[in-house]
Amino acid sequence: MPEVLYVFLCKSCGMPIRLQAQTLGRIFQAPVSQATDIDSVGAVCFHCKHVANYSFHRSSPDCRPGYRSEVANPIRETVYAKQLRCGEENCKTPLRIYAQWSESTTDEEREKDIAIWKWDADLHCPRGHKIEIA
Ligand SMILES: [Zn+2]
Ligand SMILES: [Zn+2]
Repeated sequence: MPEVLYVFLCKSCGMPIRLQAQTLGRIFQAPVSQATDIDSVGAVCFHCKHVANYSFHRSSPDCRPGYRSEVANPIRETVYAKQLRCGEENCKTPLRIYAQWSESTTDEEREKDIAIWKWDADLHCPRGHKIEIA
């Protein structure tokens, strides 16, 4: 079934990252209430395993030219893989990381995939605080 996909371009290799809008839920549907909202999600590139922040809100610094939405049959499932806690005290907005996996991948295969992810040096929570990967 065709559905709405958000298409981001990998900050490392430039390949498209297609995330199912339905899986992301309301994250990019409501208008940004404050100009300071960075409002982004983490996504991993299927091709080069780079993880970075992406946003569909034009006011966010994580939104870049060329990001678009399209209606198509998803090739892979968009899976909420894990969340990263923000290092800032009192900040309660963890960064949600989404991966593109095929439906048939096992938990073990997913763990192995996460182990080789390359974290962006500028990874931050949806409010813009830097996240340090230990
Ligand atoms: Zn990439
Ligand atoms: Zn934060």
